Amino acid sequence: MTGANPTPPGHAERILVVEDEPEFAELAVLWLERHGWRPLVAADGGEALRLVDEARPDLVLLDVGLPGLDGWGVIEQIRERSRVPILFVTARDAEADKVRGLGLGADDYVTKPISFPELMARVAAALRRAISWGGLDDQGQEIRRPGLVVDARSHQVYAAGRPVHLSPTEYRLLVRLAERPGEAIGHADLLRTVWGPGYADDLHVLRVTMRNLRAKLAEAAPGRRYVLTVYGIGYRFAPAQE
Ligand code: CA
Repeated sequence: MTGANPTPPGHAERILVVEDEPEFAELAVLWLERHGWRPLVAADGGEALRLVDEARPDLVLLDVGLPGLDGWGVIEQIRERSRVPILFVTARDAEADKVRGLGLGADDYVTKPISFPELMARVAAALRRAISWGGLDDQGQEIRRPGLVVDARSHQVYAAGRPVHLSPTEYRLLVRLAERPGEAIGHADLLRTVWGPGYADDLHVLRVTMRNLRAKLAEAAPGRRYVLTVYGIGYRFAPAQE
């Protein structure tokens, strides 16, 4: 638990804070340092991209309202070069923004006005997900299902033989389902295992991510339904065409 046991000095994860409001940036830096992480600050999108390349942060905390290149452009450009977890900050109730950000490959979002304790919990959860992603990598597994191959070494997914470019969260969701084909997996189970403890009630993030995952699979393999809805329960991976 990264949040509960701060990482020893020298091994602290680097968190890139992309924010043009100095007051918010300063508060975020204080909170992140208090939790044992190493914050870096970029005040605009161009600076953010430069720091992603040069400082290789372990997580990016990104305000979408930025001068010049906005947060959406920043997410797109980061995803062209890196799988670093991205947590974006948006206005409360900006439903379209949440869908858009997750669709572009962000991992999670927080809403303004920010609750810093909640933000720290979400940072810790995103870092844990990134670490357990690495764990799957180390095992070098390959998951083969009818019409689907997941190469855990390269994190590459092929549907009907065509590559599918998934965000880290979409990838973890697919792996969780494909590991147990035919089995109904509950919403709370998926939220806990893919997003982390504390997310069990966050149905919205699951639904949006599932929508994106299905759209990407359908683009590669039109007509094939890999993930079925189990109404009132959750989802299940279809072992073959149903
Ligand atoms: Ca801003």
